[in-house]
Amino acid sequence: MVSDIFHRDFAPIPYWWEAYTPTAGELVEVPRAARVAIVGGGYAGLSTALELVKHGIDAVVLEANELGFGASTRNGGAVSGGVNIGKSFTGKTTSVDPVRVDRILSDASDAFALIDRLIEEESIACFWEKPGRFVGAWTKKHFDTQSRRLAVLNSAAQSGAHMVPRERQREEIASDYYFGGMVVERSGKLHPALYYQGLLEACRRRNVAVCARAAVTEVSRAGNAWRVETSRGAVSAGDVVIATNGYTGDLTPALRRRVVPVASHIIATEELPPDLARSLVPKGRTLSDTRRVLCYYRMSPDGKRVVFGGRARFTQVDATVSAPILHRYMTDRFPQLRGVKVTHAWTGNVAFTLDALPHMGQRDGLHYCLGCNGSGVAMMTYLGWQTARKIARVANYACSLDTEDFPDHPLYSGNPWFLPIVGGYYRLRDTVDRLLA
Ligand SMILES: Cc1cc2nc3c(=O)[nH]c(=O)nc-3n(C[C@H](O)[C@H](O)[C@H](O)COP(=O)(O)OP(=O)(O)OC[C@H]3O[C@@H](n4cnc5c(N)ncnc54)[C@H](O)[C@@H]3O)c2cc1C
Repeated sequence: MVSDIFHRDFAPIPYWWEAYTPTAGELVEVPRAARVAIVGGGYAGLSTALELVKHGIDAVVLEANELGFGASTRNGGAVSGGVNIGKSFTGKTTSVDPVRVDRILSDASDAFALIDRLIEEESIACFWEKPGRFVGAWTKKHFDTQSRRLAVLNSAAQSGAHMVPRERQREEIASDYYFGGMVVERSGKLHPALYYQGLLEACRRRNVAVCARAAVTEVSRAGNAWRVETSRGAVSAGDVVIATNGYTGDLTPALRRRVVPVASHIIATEELPPDLARSLVPKGRTLSDTRRVLCYYRMSPDGKRVVFGGRARFTQVDATVSAPILHRYMTDRFPQLRGVKVTHAWTGNVAFTLDALPHMGQRDGLHYCLGCNGSGVAMMTYLGWQTARKIARVANYACSLDTEDFPDHPLYSGNPWFLPIVGGYYRLRDTVDRLLA
């Protein structure tokens, strides 16, 4: 029975919100003017503001909902020092010039260094650890493909990547589910909502105006400045940064056509018996796999629960739909968890781009940083930082993700009606691949 998986204390909210719940707090008044107005108060928006203020530039962060409403308090908290170049949610592989691949991986590596530094400098208590990641191979062919990627990962992103054959897989995970896999040593994990709260406090300490419940409804030119209309008054700003990622809406139709919001879902289990909890992921790494319909998982920061995510569906669905699917994916990998109950289930939007790369740049005069493609804890922090440095004119190198080329598609206007079909198709392709493996 499906309902058997739900704990009696089940709540359809992120487990992370037990430590920090998105809140509007005492509403900060929307200032009449700021040098820079930032739309969206997630990691990208806060990190932009934080870096700007460090260069003496005053910024206002305008968030439509409570502070931390978006993906930044809902994610899995796995922090990668790489980027999945060319691997889009449509399964399409985009080809990227090898020289640019190296530069992108180098930026991804810098993103990892930045988050590491920020957490230390701002004393953010968010259970930040760097135990590495294990990426399980769904098929033998995937294992071979992973092996071929090692060299570039290690040379361009200093990933410390190495392969683990199937015979030694139990050193990484208490499961025989995969065909071996790849370990990426330069990879970490944190508590995403506490990292968010730490960035928020770092902004507040420097008197950045972070305004909750200030939905931006229109941005227009007013002479040399921008007039930014919000639900709580207008701001005049010299520059505007759009940091709305998977929640990009009608405010910026040209950007909305360039990001596809795909839902990702997560469950957290009840506390497990200590011996069982300790046995599941012996080295405490984060885990994911090479399926098209990816699963990602880890132990909770206290090591007592499994936090298990994946694209149970590509659209927002109720926890009664997503949680049983994720529970099944979890017990496929860990049959020893059958009977374990789910205490939390939640969802959030990931922003995919049509070339499967994150982007920053300027369009119609507006700055943007968008398109985490599922891996944005470090990357969106970094793109915000890069955008701030560009505005402050202190960037000492051009970010490889800052290009004019941010593709759209003539048949996509911003309404991803096709996602259920794409999701179904890729689940089928995964099943066939596995049957043939
Ligand atoms: C379930 C899930 C699991 C994930 N797991 C991982 C992971 O393990 N590792 C990883 O690296 N990444 C992960 N990600 C991705 C990561 O969470 C995101 O890349 C990152 O949080 C994006 O930050 P952001 O600031 O760009 O956007 P968000 O945090 O989504 O913030 C955007 C904000 O913009 C606001 N907004 C939108 N329109 C307006 C408007 N008109 N006016 C004002 N405000 C507006 C929204 O309310 C929202 O709060 C995951 C994402 C999800 C959803």
